[in-house]
Amino acid sequence: MDRVLNLANEQDWRVVGLAATVCLVVLCLAALYDRRRLRANLITQRQTFNAALNNMNQGLCMFDASAHLVLSNDRYAEMYRLSPDDVRPGRTLRELCEARRATGTFAEDPEVYSRDMAARVAQGKTNQVMVDLADGRTVSMVNRSVPGGGWVATHEDVTERRRAENELDRTRRFLDSVIENVPTTIVVKETLEGRYVLVNRAAEQMWGLSRKDIIGRTSHEIFPKRDADMIVEHDDEVLRSGEQLLVDEHAFTTPGNGTRMLIARRLAIYGLDRKPQYTLGVIEDVTERKRAEATIAHMAHHDTLTGLPNRTAFSQCLDATLDQAIVSDDSIAVLSIDLDRFKEINDVFGHPAGDVVLREMGRRLDLAAQGAFIARLGGDEFIVISANGPQPATAEALAERLLDTAVEEIDIGGKLLRVGLSMGVAVFPTDAADGTTLLAHADAALYRAKSEARGTIRFFEPDMDKRLRERRLLQQDLRGAIERNELRLHYQPQALIDGTVIGFEALVRWQHPERGMISPASFIPVAEDSGLIIPLGEWILREACREAASWPNRLQIAINLSPVQFQHGDLPGLVHSVLLETGLEAKRLELEITEGVLIGDQDRAISILRRLKLLGLCIAMDDFGTGYSSLSYLQAFPIDKIKIDQSFVANLDRSPQPAAIIRAVIGLGRGLDLPVMVEGVETITQRDFLAAEGCTEIQGYLIGRPAPIENYAAVVGRDAPAPSAPAPSAQAAFAASPEAPRITKHAAV
Ligand code: C2E
Ligand code: CA
Ligand code: CA
Repeated sequence: MDRVLNLANEQDWRVVGLAATVCLVVLCLAALYDRRRLRANLITQRQTFNAALNNMNQGLCMFDASAHLVLSNDRYAEMYRLSPDDVRPGRTLRELCEARRATGTFAEDPEVYSRDMAARVAQGKTNQVMVDLADGRTVSMVNRSVPGGGWVATHEDVTERRRAENELDRTRRFLDSVIENVPTTIVVKETLEGRYVLVNRAAEQMWGLSRKDIIGRTSHEIFPKRDADMIVEHDDEVLRSGEQLLVDEHAFTTPGNGTRMLIARRLAIYGLDRKPQYTLGVIEDVTERKRAEATIAHMAHHDTLTGLPNRTAFSQCLDATLDQAIVSDDSIAVLSIDLDRFKEINDVFGHPAGDVVLREMGRRLDLAAQGAFIARLGGDEFIVISANGPQPATAEALAERLLDTAVEEIDIGGKLLRVGLSMGVAVFPTDAADGTTLLAHADAALYRAKSEARGTIRFFEPDMDKRLRERRLLQQDLRGAIERNELRLHYQPQALIDGTVIGFEALVRWQHPERGMISPASFIPVAEDSGLIIPLGEWILREACREAASWPNRLQIAINLSPVQFQHGDLPGLVHSVLLETGLEAKRLELEITEGVLIGDQDRAISILRRLKLLGLCIAMDDFGTGYSSLSYLQAFPIDKIKIDQSFVANLDRSPQPAAIIRAVIGLGRGLDLPVMVEGVETITQRDFLAAEGCTEIQGYLIGRPAPIENYAAVVGRDAPAPSAPAPSAQAAFAASPEAPRITKHAAV
């Protein structure tokens, strides 16, 4: 122990001291080494930190509690185009903001901003804002306070992300609006419980339910059980098969929109897990289309005005009925029906009134047909097929019933109108062996009924067919009649009541090479139907004016105009140029028009008449008393003369009415200061009656018949024709032939 102590006291203390020194040196060295290593570590750490900071996608800066910048990364400076000096640690937030203002990346007031920021951070809050920079970029900024004061701010340029998000948003909104507005019902159900999760507007409309009553509900909560079962069954089928399911046209009773015809398609929509998540239903409402198709199908076979079958339906029915008749060896009849004077009704009372008449007559005829097939072929043409019973007796009874429908008047806006019917009947197989001929023969019989006496029934007779064919032939021949110089003008004198001739009416005739002289009553209607009346009328006008202009006695010349001439071309222009061409004084020309000219487009007719009158000529109303509303026309149109139709004089001795009418019209003329001429005066008795009634002008066989002008050479003041073609003087001619004119006196105008 002493030794130990001794050692300690001498040598050992030295050793200990040395050891201690060594230890100290070692320790110092170790400490030095540690410090170095620490420093090296620190440097590495800082480098790593800096690298990490500067590698960040976001700009970062850190401020101490007094809003002085502690550190920032390169990205921050780069984002706001700041210099290293701008981001030197120790800079205040306000200085930073000002530096950013200078680079155009900060729009607010730096002082206000830094004050607000300091206040927010002081509350220890983290705040995130989106800032739109002046240069168009968008930055997402997060300020997070750190313990002990100060805060860290990260700035992230989200321009691209925002753009992509916006784009996505737009696309989504666009898709939503497409789905919403697509005119087809779209419904989506989730598969778990089968609840509706999406419906579009078309779905709401189609079901007549608002979406708040659909979304979140199952089919069973919306529809009656039977319908819901069907829907669910279809959904299940789609989920089971994984294939699209088409449910073709089916009727579906909707909760609020009646029964609809639908075509439905269903399919499953799969999730990322490849399991069906939704069922999508695309449902087309074809109700309107089906309805339109049905209407079109109906329209194709029916007439829209009367609702009766149309020509197509008639042809089909006739074919089928004929086939049946051939098989069963039966006879059938076709009744062709036409309304009398329908065109006039249309023209006088207007088309709406014409429509009322057609509808009403269609209804009555349909009723009277008692089940026999009836169709409207167009215009005022109706047709009935009589198929059950012996012919022609059955058709005859049917025709009588149909004719009776015309007895009762039709009310057109308060006016009562009686509309007559004419009917033509042809029987198969007696009159025709096929449908086309049967129809043509019924028409031929109808044509005869109309031309002979309206309001009657005519059965087909073989010569009717011949007449129709003749009419067609006539039309063909008429085409070349002017060029072949086959038309002639005859002139009939017009006189004062005492027999003084004051003028002539030009009446056309057709000198047919085979048929001889054809009456205008036969070919004028044909010319009107075919439009040939236009060149014909022009020829008549020119020829008559030329003739009258050559008369030494300046008598009047009356020329008939067809209504068709008023409807086409420039009639006043034509008359004007003919007057100039022929040198006829306008005051010598009188144009005879019938009521047909005035019905239809009244404004046009009035305007043409006014222009004609401006030329200085006269207008006479021909055939007065035969039309519908002559009286009102007298007031509306500029007329200079009334010509009472010859039928009144012809019937003078048969009943008291014609006399009363003539008397009334003469009185009317006197009242209106219009001269009245009576046509068709054949006897002295008639003339005397008229004279007694105060009639001033007459025309008729008593004065003279229509004849070539040569027959009236003396009257017009011309020398008698050359001896080779002697034309008797009026008196001489009368003595020679009863056909020749009787002239007593003449007078020039
Ligand atoms: P309208 O204009 O009423 O002509 C009078 C018709 O009565 C003429 O028949 C004439 O011959 C006939 N007539 C004259 N006096 C008597 C008489 O005392 N007794 C009898 N029973 N008849 C008499 P027409 O020449 O056969 O002409 C028939 C119709 O044809 C004319 O009736 C007229 O509507 C038309 N027409 C004749 N010529 C022309 C013409 O140049 N142009 C046009 N558009 N129509 C014409
Ligand atoms: Ca006439
Ligand atoms: Ca007449």
